[in-house]
Amino acid sequence: MNCPVCGSNNTGKIGSSEYYCANCLLEFSKSGRKVQYYYIDEEGTSVLLKNKTDAKKMAALIQSQEEDSAN
Ligand SMILES: [Zn+2]
Repeated sequence: MNCPVCGSNNTGKIGSSEYYCANCLLEFSKSGRKVQYYYIDEEGTSVLLKNKTDAKKMAALIQSQEEDSAN
């Protein structure tokens, strides 16, 4: 399935209705038509994001941090 945040198909199934996107490094779960977005903090806790807009912002933030640590 394609990531509902970035549209990438670089996703993996991690639970019965849970997916991980390797592109934006977020998790999302799907139940019926409802999609919920999560990011994983440093302690490994899934933190629910309010909506897709917040998920996009978080994905951009995570990616900028990844680039910082790679340099
Ligand atoms: Zn994504």
